[in-house]
Amino acid sequence: MKPLKTVSRSEANPQYLAGYLPDYKQTGWKLDRDGRHITFIDGCGIGRLRLVGNGGQHIETFPLKQIKRVRLLRRADGYYVQFAVATERKCEHVETGSVVGIDMGLKVFYTDSDGKTVENPRHYASAEKKLKRLHRQVSRKHKKSQNRKKARQRLAKASLKVQRQREDFARKTANALVSSHDLIAYEHLQIRNLVKNQKLAKSIYDAAWGHFLSWVKAYGIMHEVPIIAVAPHYTSQDCSGCGERVKKTLSTRTHRCPSCGLVMDRDENAAVNILAKALEGTLGHRETYEQVSENAWGEMTSTVLFARIGGQVISWNQEPPWRLAMGSVSRCEG
Ligand SMILES: [Zn+2]
Repeated sequence: MKPLKTVSRSEANPQYLAGYLPDYKQTGWKLDRDGRHITFIDGCGIGRLRLVGNGGQHIETFPLKQIKRVRLLRRADGYYVQFAVATERKCEHVETGSVVGIDMGLKVFYTDSDGKTVENPRHYASAEKKLKRLHRQVSRKHKKSQNRKKARQRLAKASLKVQRQREDFARKTANALVSSHDLIAYEHLQIRNLVKNQKLAKSIYDAAWGHFLSWVKAYGIMHEVPIIAVAPHYTSQDCSGCGERVKKTLSTRTHRCPSCGLVMDRDENAAVNILAKALEGTLGHRETYEQVSENAWGEMTSTVLFARIGGQVISWNQEPPWRLAMGSVSRCEG
């Protein structure tokens, strides 16, 4: 499935659009030849919408039979029409001869087993501040007032912007990671436990890691690069040099091993352990069994069935948060 993005503005009936938004398969709609308008012909009153395209992608260039679904979406900044287009998505992975473990954290976005780091994007911090302020503004306005409604709209738009930036960052970072390695190991995190205290910061980082991992898995499938989850036990405590368990608190940033003398950044030590665990697993039997499928909207859905690590079986389900992940959107404002 190839995503298509087309933004549209229209004379649509806003009341209709505000409520139930229908899905269409290959009937019930008609696209103008130039791709500028779409008409819904099923008599439900939406009618003809003008599509405000985004230069790069032209829905009209796809054969009609490749357009499998059409649906309407509502976002804080307007209405979109999403086209699901069936295409082959191929990708040649150039072998790099390098395998990597990554440790996700708060200080930096992740640290890998070669000691390289990817910084948190700066916009996370400013977004957090801004969203907090907008939240406060909403709660200060009188319930059911026009001002409260406006404040809520401002908050929704700001959240949407953060969502899009996060998506963009997640996709690019994941692509760079997967295309430059032949195996990637990560820790299956209880992300919730990592981020305490600040509610908003928590939700931002939570979502950021979730999106990122979803994309790493998606690119892993396209590149046919194994993406391996390992159990999160003692990865930051154990010495990656000799295996000695070296207790440390969250604030201890450096790993110093009394047995073998290894001194290493805490997160790098963890990343090395994560990679080692994954490789251990692949030598014996395959440890993560994952089903990943793409639905008609080009969204990836993945379910990790169970993982076997060091003889221990852990299981979980993962619901990736990528509603807009594959970016297939288009729009109709009232
Ligand atoms: Zn050691």
